[in-house]
Amino acid sequence: MPSLSVLPPKCLQKPLLVPHRHMFGPGPSNVPSRILEAGANPVIGHIIHFTGTGHTAMECAIFNTVESGDSVLTAVNGIWGERAAEMAERIGARVNTIVAPPGGFFTNAEIEQALSKYRPVLFFLAHGESSTGVLHPLDGIGQLCQRYNCLFLVDAVASIGGAPLHMDQQGIDILYTGSQKVLNAPPGTAPISFSERACQKIFSRKSKPVSFFLDLNWLANYWGCDGKPSRVYHHTGPVTAFFSLRESLAVLVEEGLENSWERHQKVAEYFHTGLESMGLKLFVKEKKARLPTVTTIVAPHGYDWKEITSYIMKTHNIEISGGLGPSVGLVLRVGLMGCNSSKANVDMVLGALKDALKHCHKSKV
Ligand code: PMP
Repeated sequence: MPSLSVLPPKCLQKPLLVPHRHMFGPGPSNVPSRILEAGANPVIGHIIHFTGTGHTAMECAIFNTVESGDSVLTAVNGIWGERAAEMAERIGARVNTIVAPPGGFFTNAEIEQALSKYRPVLFFLAHGESSTGVLHPLDGIGQLCQRYNCLFLVDAVASIGGAPLHMDQQGIDILYTGSQKVLNAPPGTAPISFSERACQKIFSRKSKPVSFFLDLNWLANYWGCDGKPSRVYHHTGPVTAFFSLRESLAVLVEEGLENSWERHQKVAEYFHTGLESMGLKLFVKEKKARLPTVTTIVAPHGYDWKEITSYIMKTHNIEISGGLGPSVGLVLRVGLMGCNSSKANVDMVLGALKDALKHCHKSKV
């Protein structure tokens, strides 16, 4: 008679089998073996970095800079501005949004008008809007934020390493990304960076941030960057995930940031030309606003987008995805990020799409 009434699940008695898949959706992307192997190093004590995914970094930025009753402005041209607005609302901020249609973006004049109207303490903008495939121009916005005494928060989860970005020159106060996209590391860690101005605001706030886990007073000490001689236990970081992240950054350094930006741009243009020559349409009309890491394709007329993505997964072992938030039903999304950004992979995706359009059901109307 077993002494336990609940037996261990049978599936845990079999070896773990993870299928190989081409991860060409908006993330996570494939992790090269060099980066995976770095994560197989032995676990040691605490080291420096952010624990948690892109959402954690987003909440960390908002929770530490905004106090209840503060005014916050978010730019909504997809799902990420909506989420930032919701996070700020949850901590009692007065939130206003500027809204562009999915696939669109904002001019500096529109942003300035809203800054002057709402006088926010924080302005959120997604550099790479992965739900709509937009790369937002950044020049001049940081300087506008400085003029209106507002911090400039930029989400670069889907863009860092794959598109040009200059945190200091562009006057960005808080910038975060995720490990699982262009960096090709496993999900679960999120690099984040703060300007001097952001630190001044964060460390002079009147109330404590609502989250203990994301309180930067604690995290700065944990990361060893608060100038104090000793570090106090805060939480247990996913050390092996940090090893992989470190290796992914080493891979980027070896290629060179500018080379990586250029490669992503060239591959994206090659992909876009291939899609258009198949008769497919790109969702983002303005060429310079197309995100080179995640491409949004107008959902082909007469087809069910879900049938296309499942066909491609089943027949070609390739993961691509449909829309998200305001782009649901409107687009197919293909992410070619980091090591996945190559002309050979573009050819593979174009072949799979051609095949899907031939074999999936097409309505006559
Ligand atoms: N921002 C953007 C632009 C993203 O693409 C994502 C992930 N899809 C996130 C934030 C959230 O990241 P995570 O899923 O790692 O929490």
